[in-house]
Amino acid sequence: MKSDNKINITADACIVGSGCGGGVCARVLAEAGMKVVLVEEGGYFKAEDFTQREDDAYQKMYQHRAGLATDDLSFTILEGKTVGGSTTINWTTSLRTPRFVLDHWEKDLYLEQYSYNELVPYFEKVERYLNIHPEPYERHNENNRIVYDGARALGYHSFASGRNVDGCIECGFCGLGCSYDVKLSVNLTYIPDAEKAGAQVIPRARAERITINGKVKSVEGNLLAVESDTVTGSFSIDAPIVIVAASAINTPVLLLKSKLANSNGRVGSTLTLHPTTAVLGLFDRIIDPGYGIPQSAVCDEFMNYRNDGGGYWIEGVPVHPALAAISLPEFGERHRKLMESYRHIGASIVLVKDTDSHGRVQINEYGRPVIRYSIGDRDLRYLREGLETAARIHFAAGAREVGTLHVRKTIFGSPEEIPVKLTAAKYGPNEICMYSAHPLSSCRMGVDPRTSVVKPDGETHEVPGLYICDGSILPTSLGVNPQLTILAVAEKIAEGIVDKL
Ligand SMILES: Cc1cc2nc3c(=O)[nH]c(=O)nc-3n(C[C@H](O)[C@H](O)[C@H](O)COP(=O)(O)OP(=O)(O)OC[C@H]3O[C@@H](n4cnc5c(N)ncnc54)[C@H](O)[C@@H]3O)c2cc1C
Repeated sequence: MKSDNKINITADACIVGSGCGGGVCARVLAEAGMKVVLVEEGGYFKAEDFTQREDDAYQKMYQHRAGLATDDLSFTILEGKTVGGSTTINWTTSLRTPRFVLDHWEKDLYLEQYSYNELVPYFEKVERYLNIHPEPYERHNENNRIVYDGARALGYHSFASGRNVDGCIECGFCGLGCSYDVKLSVNLTYIPDAEKAGAQVIPRARAERITINGKVKSVEGNLLAVESDTVTGSFSIDAPIVIVAASAINTPVLLLKSKLANSNGRVGSTLTLHPTTAVLGLFDRIIDPGYGIPQSAVCDEFMNYRNDGGGYWIEGVPVHPALAAISLPEFGERHRKLMESYRHIGASIVLVKDTDSHGRVQINEYGRPVIRYSIGDRDLRYLREGLETAARIHFAAGAREVGTLHVRKTIFGSPEEIPVKLTAAKYGPNEICMYSAHPLSSCRMGVDPRTSVVKPDGETHEVPGLYICDGSILPTSLGVNPQLTILAVAEKIAEGIVDKL
């Protein structure tokens, strides 16, 4: 029922956010016959809306127009704001949670429900539904071959990662939304299937608070204009079950604003970022780092190689011109010259699995996220090691020169220069460009209500019927790209909610 631009609906379940967690829950609950309403802050875009322009996509579909950062501006954090969540603008890498991570969850954190054997059927289910498969060698672009071939030339293990696509034409614009409807992201799979089963999806609807009235919960918020964040109305959804699936940054924000599920102070307090930086190589041949399949090759040789639960991972990364211009460590004329070499630049990312770093999401007086992250000594050692390995991989793949994203120019003319210059380089906040497209674990699941926010079934320890189902509940950092893990965990949680009812 809609009147005076105020929507009031009563439902069996209200879901906040339509990414991996929200999309899966919407489909599973709606197909089980529940009346589901899903509110999503971002717009509901179709293939024709994806213009393949960076300025347009970052404005339209990224949280804070791709300008979200930690409070000291040392990490840029990328997240989606659109139906389908970050999957609509992600790079399609689809990998299972590493076995050593799941063993840790099972044996050290007593999460037997998330052991390797328990999760395999859910991985398989998602892999079938999203057609996840690795690409054959000839489909890797030049940029990904740097990682794939360069690693092997040095005797390191590399492989082709799985991707959730069907009929990909290798245009390279996955990160700006797929214009060809071939990326099997949540907006093209779980959400339409949920709608077919009767779920109501309300785009441009930002939840501002959740209130509890006995068994009923009300999700209240604002309706937003299509092209801006101007408030055009309000909504209130009443339901006995509310599932918050707003991402590892925005889920704690909503819970903190609502003053819910946080007696132990754990909401937002255990954020991981999967700290990421890049190495750029200058090649004589054309690499075209923005074209072709964006991310299809991985070097995993150094993940958990010391059996300490840490380590790093190296992947190809798509770099379109605007992103290249922001990232290149030069100014003025020298910057222009470097940009003229854009087609000859190869780019790889080094991603460190968080072990001793500390992150936290809080809110300021306006209810906006304040994100803090300090990198630990061990994680920093792996970051430095990762830069060295990635630089060597670029030389092995034929680079003429290799550089890092240090603010003070750090460029190697040969592999021999790498250790000396990396030892001299600085690694403090804002000394090197750092990114995260994988924030996780800010509202962890656990068996102990004193140290975790949700139970293993996704329900908050404190409020019956209030669930969280997104990257925020993962018990630890993964060390790999997270979408397949979040989707599989969400399938299990959604199935559990239906069984319980
Ligand atoms: C550029 C980029 C590339 C990536 N590439 C890969 C990759 O190749 N492989 C991989 O595995 N992972 C990748 N990721 C990460 C992956 O997509 C995310 O980890 C995953 O989608 C997170 O799922 P989620 O359900 O936690 O949140 P999201 O998918 O981010 O969904 C959360 C949704 O909630 C909405 N929301 C937030 N607050 C509110 C509110 N108050 N009210 C209503 N709605 C709200 C948001 O708008 C968003 O749509 C990438 C991410 C980015 C940004």
